[in-house]
Amino acid sequence: MTPLETEIRRMIAADGPMPLGRFMTLCLAHPVHGYYMSRDPLGVAGDFVTAPEVSQMFGELVGLWAAAVWQQMGAPRHIRLVELGPGRGTMMSDALRGVRVLPAFRHALSVDLIEISPVLRRRQEQTLADLDVPIAWHSDVADLGDGPLIVIANEFIDALPVDQLVRTADGWHARMIGFDAAGGLAFALHPDALLCADSIVPPQVRDAPIGSVYEWRSGCLITGLAERIVRDGGAGLMIDYGHTQPAVGETLQSVRSHRPVPVLEDPGDVDLTAHVDFAALGRAAERAAARLHGPISQADLLRRLGIDARAARLKTAATYDQAIGIDAALARLAGSGPAQMGGLFKAIAFAPPELGPLPGFDG
Ligand code: SAH
Repeated sequence: MTPLETEIRRMIAADGPMPLGRFMTLCLAHPVHGYYMSRDPLGVAGDFVTAPEVSQMFGELVGLWAAAVWQQMGAPRHIRLVELGPGRGTMMSDALRGVRVLPAFRHALSVDLIEISPVLRRRQEQTLADLDVPIAWHSDVADLGDGPLIVIANEFIDALPVDQLVRTADGWHARMIGFDAAGGLAFALHPDALLCADSIVPPQVRDAPIGSVYEWRSGCLITGLAERIVRDGGAGLMIDYGHTQPAVGETLQSVRSHRPVPVLEDPGDVDLTAHVDFAALGRAAERAAARLHGPISQADLLRRLGIDARAARLKTAATYDQAIGIDAALARLAGSGPAQMGGLFKAIAFAPPELGPLPGFDG
């Protein structure tokens, strides 16, 4: 049994079943035993591979997107480039290299990284060690300093905890983690229907069949960021996998070494994520009176930002083997087949209404 499972069992024995969201928070972010606290989960040898780790083109294009937004904002003298959950720091490193061609932007920017994992912070420090821009690390977006900000995030929202509600004859009940008859961790339903279910479950899915599961996340982080952006100027760009229309269904998944494992197995030792509900994410930003852009597919975003031309350019200086690698990365990032990211992953952006259409989102 993992040390975290021992602790979670003790909590349940003392306080009764815990909500799924609390369980997921402990699994990912428990200060000692949380999944992200003690390891670098990324890459082929780890549990999952993300778009920035597939190819430098991804981060370079995100960097150019940020530079274009900054120009659209009227090129303010100082801009914060904020990344949520930067992993190994690869996307930021590629983004900053991508904008070398725009020295005015590089001079205007300072970098803020929001990261809870001490291991990944160290990794980010190494990746970004040679940079000539100021960098600061924070655990929480509430600690960001003042001024306009451009926020970027890839595969961050999917790592934020979800809760699940299950439809029964008398309403929606929260899914909890308790014990089964043999004393193992097991799903259970809260005995009482949730009184405020209508404030969480959108009208499109309220009449779902009995037994349906609705997953939801707190939108506070996004609403808070969007408030900052509407007040101080800037934009946010979130890229992740998920669905664009409200839907019922369970997407919570647990992955170890690129393979799915049961969700309650080995808490703290396996990656837990759930698809991003882009409609809910959009509502969270709109609560702050931000204007939404998208969601669009990752393929559309990358193609409109020029990934084909970027790949062609990289290939002019590549060996034959490297050229094959560039084509494979292009297909993985922007292809829409089942094993490719272009269709499954989506991008959404938000900005103050007066900023107008954003690069990559205006068709
Ligand atoms: N963006 C990176 C890494 C994605 S993995 C990439 O695309 O490769 C998720 C990242 O979010 C990790 O860096 C993880 O440590 C961080 N993270 C997870 N939950 C977080 C939270 N609540 N606050 C800040 N960072 C978090």
